[in-house]
Amino acid sequence: MGNTAFEIPDLNRIHELIPKYDRPGPRYTSYPTAPVWTDEFGEAEFVDALGRAVNRDLSLYVHIPFCERLCSFCACNRVITQDHNVADPYLDALEIEADRVANAIGGTRKSVQLAIGGGTPTFLTPSELSRMCTILDSRFPPDADAERSIEIDPRVTSREQLAALAEHGFNRVSLGVQDFNPKVQKAINRVQSIEQTAQLTQDARELGFRSVNFDLIYGLPFQSLASFSDTVDRVLELRPERIALYSYAHVTWIQKSQRGFEKKDLPDAERKLAIMLQAIQQFQAKGYQFLGLDHFALPNDDLYAAAESGTLRRNFMGYTTRAGVNLVAFGASAISELGDAYAQSVRAPKDWQDKLERGELATMRGWRLSDDDLRRKWLIQELMCQGEINHQNYYDRFNEDLSVRIPELAGQLSPLVEDGLLIQAGRDYRLTAAGRLFSRIVAMVFDAYLPDPNSDRPLFSRTV
Ligand code: SF4
Repeated sequence: MGNTAFEIPDLNRIHELIPKYDRPGPRYTSYPTAPVWTDEFGEAEFVDALGRAVNRDLSLYVHIPFCERLCSFCACNRVITQDHNVADPYLDALEIEADRVANAIGGTRKSVQLAIGGGTPTFLTPSELSRMCTILDSRFPPDADAERSIEIDPRVTSREQLAALAEHGFNRVSLGVQDFNPKVQKAINRVQSIEQTAQLTQDARELGFRSVNFDLIYGLPFQSLASFSDTVDRVLELRPERIALYSYAHVTWIQKSQRGFEKKDLPDAERKLAIMLQAIQQFQAKGYQFLGLDHFALPNDDLYAAAESGTLRRNFMGYTTRAGVNLVAFGASAISELGDAYAQSVRAPKDWQDKLERGELATMRGWRLSDDDLRRKWLIQELMCQGEINHQNYYDRFNEDLSVRIPELAGQLSPLVEDGLLIQAGRDYRLTAAGRLFSRIVAMVFDAYLPDPNSDRPLFSRTV
């Protein structure tokens, strides 16, 4: 997709496409997607994958699952508690896990990225955050220009916590904002003032964080074009370097908390897309570049440069600037991505701690990617990050013609070309503006594991 401006597609045409393409589909933060993984992939397979993960830099992720209050839209893996005594045993287990992973990798390896997510990472006190950093840095020393980021909830984060992180070299911070409208905030049980967000943004900048990200969500209950436009205006006044604009995923069969509001309170698919397109226009008008599915960056941000140079990649944390690194994840429910394998730890913190204390690694499920999986994963990445399917690039990468791998591809893509989601140039394809809105649909063409569309059991959120 590079860094060319996104041209807003014709709304009437988009409305015609919604009935056909608004259907359940993966977000493709992994391929194969998590429902495909198996519990036959356990500790031994994870250790084997770690042992093979040589000659690559490490990107680390730590999941802190605790939150004091439940936001009713939340689809994350989290535990709601006001008892802060849970933090110390959790960090004890993290220390055991870090030791065991370091042993499996076979020696000290530097980390080029560290991301702390949740849950609410700032559930931890400044000294607990420092301890967490020491646990990781002593086993996986950070590279001099390592990217170190943390997700924070402005309602429960202090300047002292940010200062502790800055001392440990953290340079990026991501603030959960979602929406500034009071009625929307009440419905999602997340009341957060603009002043709290502005203060933390200012604190982060004063403490030397070089990039601030805001997470926003469109499609929440009671959102309207006018209300979300107002939220975007407030966000633009604070000028974060990056913005993630996520689509609300209504998955009540997984997240029972989402039943706290009625489906009729949610904007329908047409309204939802209109809210998103309006936000894109507002961000672009103020100099932000629209990247991939749902990210925006100012020209001075690394994500912008990665899009420009074609090194943008997508993983569990969204879009990332570092291609070709191994993602090793720590904590309950955390997912590692190691070249040709995915591995996920058990979800409940207590189970995760118990397994580590018993001398095991807490791997719950995973997947070893076949050659075919690796090729399809690369194709989906190309589509989601570069917006194209290019036969020469595929050949250069795999020394194989794409038509040998997927002989039926041209036939499968031609209806999408006819519907204006793709432009065809010879044997190659490029997403159009409309196609970027439905890129999950296009990516499904490359997915060899799609469930039966007539199954009663939904696995994925809707694509709009
Ligand atoms: S949205 Fe974030 S803060 Fe809210 S419950 Fe979920 S993980 Fe916790």
